[in-house]
Amino acid sequence: MAFDIDLIKKVYDDLPGKIAEAREKLGKPLTLTEKILYTHLHPESPLQQYNRGKDYVFFQPDRVAMQDATAQMALLQFMMAGRDKVAVPSTVHCDHLILAEEGATEDLARANDENKEVYDFLSTVSDKYGIGFWKPGAGIIHQIVLENYAFPGGMMIGTDSHTPNAGGLGMVAIGVGGADAVDVMAGMPWELKMPKVIGVKLTGKLSGWTSSKDVILKVAGILTVKGGTGAIVEYFGEGARNLSCTGKGTICNMGAEIGATTSTFGYDESMSRYLRATDRTEVAELADQVAEHLTGDAACYANPEQYFDRVIEIDLSTLEPHINGPYTPDRAFPISEFAAAVDKFEFPPVLEVGLIGSCTNSSYEDLDRAASLARQAKQKGLKVKSEFTVTPGSEQIRFTVDRDGQLKEFEDIGGVVLANACGPCIGQWARHTDDPNRANSILTSFNRNFAKRNDGNPQTRGFVASPEIVTAMAISGSMKFNPLTDTLINERGEEVMLDPPTGVELPPNGFAVEDAGYQDPAEDGSGIEVVVDPKSDRLQLLDPFKPIRPEQVSDMRVLIKAKGKCTTDHISMAGPWLTYRGHLENISQNCLIGAINAYNDKTNSVINYVTNEYMAVPDSALTYRDNQIGQIVVGEENYGEGSSREHAAMEPRWLGVHAVLVKSFARIHETNLKKQGMLALTFVNADDYDKIRQDDKVTISDFASMAPDRNLTVVLDHADGTQESFEVAHTYNQAQIGWVTAGSALNKIREELTA
Ligand code: SF4
Repeated sequence: MAFDIDLIKKVYDDLPGKIAEAREKLGKPLTLTEKILYTHLHPESPLQQYNRGKDYVFFQPDRVAMQDATAQMALLQFMMAGRDKVAVPSTVHCDHLILAEEGATEDLARANDENKEVYDFLSTVSDKYGIGFWKPGAGIIHQIVLENYAFPGGMMIGTDSHTPNAGGLGMVAIGVGGADAVDVMAGMPWELKMPKVIGVKLTGKLSGWTSSKDVILKVAGILTVKGGTGAIVEYFGEGARNLSCTGKGTICNMGAEIGATTSTFGYDESMSRYLRATDRTEVAELADQVAEHLTGDAACYANPEQYFDRVIEIDLSTLEPHINGPYTPDRAFPISEFAAAVDKFEFPPVLEVGLIGSCTNSSYEDLDRAASLARQAKQKGLKVKSEFTVTPGSEQIRFTVDRDGQLKEFEDIGGVVLANACGPCIGQWARHTDDPNRANSILTSFNRNFAKRNDGNPQTRGFVASPEIVTAMAISGSMKFNPLTDTLINERGEEVMLDPPTGVELPPNGFAVEDAGYQDPAEDGSGIEVVVDPKSDRLQLLDPFKPIRPEQVSDMRVLIKAKGKCTTDHISMAGPWLTYRGHLENISQNCLIGAINAYNDKTNSVINYVTNEYMAVPDSALTYRDNQIGQIVVGEENYGEGSSREHAAMEPRWLGVHAVLVKSFARIHETNLKKQGMLALTFVNADDYDKIRQDDKVTISDFASMAPDRNLTVVLDHADGTQESFEVAHTYNQAQIGWVTAGSALNKIREELTA
């Protein structure tokens, strides 16, 4: 499991020279973001000034991490790329497929049994191609990366949208789809539009009930779910230095909720302490030697307006705890205003379940501070009134907080410790309820709260807060409880108040673990055979997609015109569908079933013009595909926000959708569509969305001459015989147009490797 010290040495040896060169070339001081990006340029992108938000640039990330739900498809694709071994250190983490039901031991045993085929596949492919394998129960990808692999100044990609968590250790860590991971593992350059840089200046110091989570809850309220799109958020200032490393990780993790490409912090003492505590003194010592290069230049921080595209300032000393939600993580309420909001917006006032932990908030500090409240509750004669669960982020954390007594504190007040896995955070939750359709409130220390995400019930109002606030409110059982000001009545009928939480940043006796759950790959994997049962309903070897032909984008039918928010959860739902993440044909049965049809306001009910009947979206798509009728999907703003899963692009592709036309895209999803060789298009005039009728035939008339920086033309043939046309934009460069003409980016890689 050892981090690659030679790689880190090489990065640090090259840093001073490369940064000096970049500074000279750009003719200005550099932000940390620029330092990391410009020192990771791929040779195909020469050192020059790249325009933020405009130019596509090739990078060479240092590492790749994959979680089990996305790794299946990524590795199925990697197997088609024609390589013997991964080109950069890579890891697989088995965290998404474990259903939370009874508790850690039982749930893990069941998952090992039910997912055996998938785990065996991932383990064997990892073994064969030189990939580190973290077994089920070892923990959640981002926690394990922070504990083992992240290093200041490094660059990594991960097939999960919360990969930015590693920004807590000063990395530029970006969530991508599996197809991007395949590029990097295959040794190809990895392409990204040069991001803008948003500076967040932190002043002051946290105290009392406020925690790092509240910083990002506040930032989400300011920037909204779209505000970080196309940008890296760089935190700086004395307030940043006052935060723990893992607290920084929480902030970067949830930067995904504002659409940011990633978030990061400059190297400081907190990172050095964390590296040393996690058995990486060698990395800390190396980082200390180049510390000045692992943070932004002082001039950038002295005049941030001059060097950042946008600047936000937050004073940690006056920051209040926040509760964000429901249904969107940017609806931010300071806790002092939340009880009134519960009344005003008629949120269900009973807190049914409080859930703490996850990759976002299961550091030693988080659990120690939350446990201090559980301890107080016990001392003051209180128990949790809500159901209360604790999800440790890794076996190392679990083992350590078990040894140090925090887990017992939670259990003593009625908490249930779940497996070291995603569980309820990704809908892997067999929730105990007498009515799964009831309107209700839950509060989590996770990061995401879209409708249905946690328990599949659209009536569940999911709110997000710090683990401390979740714990205190679970003790009260009420959404209207403000632990800063309100009292509770204990078992003896006395009025008591919770004191502010206390805790330490790192375990005083060090981290410990007996079996971290790691498996090293074989030195030589050439003799290892990867077998996929053709009858399997969970895994399916892939066939290359065929390139789109011009006649296929002529007279296309509108599969669905999606109305309002259409996230990757709407396009390719998680929860029970996680089972089929390695089987494209089977998982395509969930394609767009959560999207709202703009023509009838229903989900999974669209009219099909072969049969003239309403049917499920995937059935309609298959009917069109079987009749060689091309299809287009239409959507609104920020289409595909949320997760990095490329299934949301592969499924429509497999079902015969050639183009997706929307008002705007979430970055990762747009790239995923491109990688699968599809057309990702945006309305030049957003009002043209209204022109598209459900019985239209849609043609992209100039597809055959598609070129960078040139709009395409959409022609609508209405059923009444009239015709309308309008321009649509795209962001394909020449290489990406090559993906379309090859059928997919992967087809292009294979062509190049075998050329
Ligand atoms: Fe797992 Fe939730 Fe973290 Fe995603 S956000 S890695 S589902 S714990």
